[in-house]
Amino acid sequence: MKKSFKYYIKANKETIQKAERIFNLCRVLYNLCLEQRKFVWKNYHKSVSCYDQIKELPSLKKFFPELKEVPSQTLQEVVERVDKAFRNFFSRVKKGEKSGYPRFKSFNRYDSFTLKQAGWKIVGKELKIGKVGSFKLFLSRPIEGDIKTVTIRRTLSNRWYVTFSCDNVNPKPLPKTGESVGIDVGCESFLTTSEEEKIDNPRFFQRAQSLLTKRQKTLSRKKKGSKHRNKARILLSKAHEKVFDQRRDFHFKTARKILQTYDTIFIEDMNHFKSYRSLNRSMRDVAWFSFFNILLFKAEEAGKEVVKVPARNTSQICSSCDRIVQKGLSVRVHSCPHCGLSIDRDINAARNILRLGQSLQGAGALAPVMN
Ligand SMILES: [Zn+2]
Repeated sequence: MKKSFKYYIKANKETIQKAERIFNLCRVLYNLCLEQRKFVWKNYHKSVSCYDQIKELPSLKKFFPELKEVPSQTLQEVVERVDKAFRNFFSRVKKGEKSGYPRFKSFNRYDSFTLKQAGWKIVGKELKIGKVGSFKLFLSRPIEGDIKTVTIRRTLSNRWYVTFSCDNVNPKPLPKTGESVGIDVGCESFLTTSEEEKIDNPRFFQRAQSLLTKRQKTLSRKKKGSKHRNKARILLSKAHEKVFDQRRDFHFKTARKILQTYDTIFIEDMNHFKSYRSLNRSMRDVAWFSFFNILLFKAEEAGKEVVKVPARNTSQICSSCDRIVQKGLSVRVHSCPHCGLSIDRDINAARNILRLGQSLQGAGALAPVMN
């Protein structure tokens, strides 16, 4: 299976400057490729392919000799990024979603480059990048499988990371338990299971949120283009990155806990119920999507399955007698006048997801989600 490994890296000023120069040259190429595609389409109604643009790289280097400072594979990967931006754009248009045309990258907005098999080496605790220099590599865990690409990235708060994308990584199956579970994304808890477990949003989200708000205010008070403003911007980015890391960590831990206990996990199909959800839940949705992706990925690694269920009305149906029990969002308990069942509303919903999932799967109507 495929897996990425990300590590913190550090380098001296000279290496950093060289790496930043590569960012900038890649950015120039990115914008050139974008411009060419736009121009050819506008004037000749023809589309330029990724292959066409890669083929033109050698002659482009004659006009822009600076590009020779960048490893060839890195330049190719820039062209591939442009291609990807267009493909994403067209697929969104096709789906009828609102979509912005791929945009030119401004200075400081291009902050990574990628190498493939050549142009890098790990020597002891150092990552050596040809034409750039050496980075101190903080290997917090071993790299597994075969390294396919190496991406160097600078965050907004000026921290540097390397990501190794690997193939042929051995899965780490978790012992089978024979158990299945339904999961509901509630309003109050992060998630609720059909086995009556509730996982709450960690408190640090609240604390982090207030720090973010405070730093955002500080930033907006500073004069544009000033040194103080830049400092404030870095502090704000640091806070953002911290929240992101904490949330990711929480998601990994939660996914692991669920996968250790259950073999099959039924969850509500997001696309299905997106249409009738209110907008103020969008932030929670973002967190849920990121959790869901982690759960999917870890399930594959653990040899377990995640199944999306096209559930509807899960909070209103009684999980014991199947009758509808209407209730508003503020009513936290499902109490059924028909059969007498009285349980937490989210547990009732999770049980409905489990029941529907199991019956559809039994009928062969559902397949596990693949990454
Ligand atoms: Zn009932």
